[in-house]
Amino acid sequence: MKIGFVGLGRMGTAIAGNLLKAGHEVSVWNRSADKAEPLVAAGATLATSPAEAAAGGIVMSMLADDHAVEAVVFGEGGILSARSQPIHVSLSTIGLRFAERLSGAHAEAGGALVSAPVFGRPAAAEAAQLFIAAAGAPDALARCQPLFDAIGQKTFILGDSAPMANLMKLCGNFLIGSVIEGMAEAMTLGQRGGIPKAKMLEVLTGSLFDAPIYRVYGDIIARDAYSPAGFTAPLGLKDMNLVSEAANDMRVPMPVLAVVRNHVLSLIAREGEEVDWSALARMVEGEAGI
Ligand code: NAP
Repeated sequence: MKIGFVGLGRMGTAIAGNLLKAGHEVSVWNRSADKAEPLVAAGATLATSPAEAAAGGIVMSMLADDHAVEAVVFGEGGILSARSQPIHVSLSTIGLRFAERLSGAHAEAGGALVSAPVFGRPAAAEAAQLFIAAAGAPDALARCQPLFDAIGQKTFILGDSAPMANLMKLCGNFLIGSVIEGMAEAMTLGQRGGIPKAKMLEVLTGSLFDAPIYRVYGDIIARDAYSPAGFTAPLGLKDMNLVSEAANDMRVPMPVLAVVRNHVLSLIAREGEEVDWSALARMVEGEAGI
C-alpha cells in the first residue's frame, strides 16, 4: 500500500521501518528532516510536508503530544491542507478532548480519523510486537488492518468512535505508571530489609506477577537501567496530565494517579528531561534514604 508516515522519533522510526520491511511504499516526513535519512536509505521517499506525505490516501502519525499533532494536522502544510483528504491513523498518545476535536476536524474536511495508540516500548516497536488499541469507522479500520499487522502482534478494536481508543490508552498508561510505583515501593521495602532487587524480580515474575509489564519494568528497576530512555519522563508526565484531564472531566477520583504524577515531576526536576520515566523508582528509594 501507499502510505505516509509523519513523526520519526524513537517509536516512529521503528514503526515506519517495519512498514517498509512489509513491502509498503512509505513517504516519510519529520520536523527535523535529518531523522528521515536512515529510512530514505532503506527505500522510503522524503515528503516535503505532512500534506505531501498524506497524498497516498492513508497517513500515520507518531508524534510527541497534542501540540505536535496539532501542528502537523492544522498547521501550514498540515494534513488538513492535503488536496484529497486521507485517513489519518493517529498512533500518538494524545488527550481525549483533543482526540474529539481532531476526529471532528477530519470528518468535516471529508477525511477520517482512526485512533490507534500503541502499547509497547521502542524495542517492541522495532520487533513489530506492539499491541494496538484502534477505533474509527469500520471501513477505515479494515483498510488499516494490513498496516497494523505489519507493526504489531495484536489489534484490539474499541468501536467506531476514534477517541475511545485514546481513552483506552490513557487508562493503560495510568496502570503502567501505578505498576512502576508499586514495584518501586515493594522493591524499596525488600531492599531495605536485605533482599536484592534482582532476587525480588526473580520471585515476583516467577510467581504471580509473570506479565510483560512487571518483567520489562521490573528488569529496568532491578538494573537501574534508566538511560538511554525508551520512554522519557516528560512524555510520562504528559500522559499522567492527560489522564488527570480525562478523570476531572468525567468526575472520576484517581488518588494513585497523583502519587505517580508527583514522582515523575520530582524525577524531571532532579534529573532532567532525558531519563526514562521508570526512574521514578529512584524518587521512591530516595524518600526511604536509599
Ligand atoms: P520522541 O522520540 O520524543 O519523538 C517525538 C516525535 O514528535 C519526533 O518526531 C518529533 O520531531 C515530533 N515532534 C515533537 N514536537 C513536534 C512539533 N511541535 N511539530 C512536529 N513534530 C513534533 O517520542 P516517542 O518516544 O517516539 O513517542 C511518540 C509518541 O508515542 C508519544 O505520544 C508517546 O507518548 C507515545 N508512546 C511512546 C512509547 C515509548 O515507549 N517511547 C510507547 C508507546 C507510546 P523532532 O524529531 O523534530 O523533534
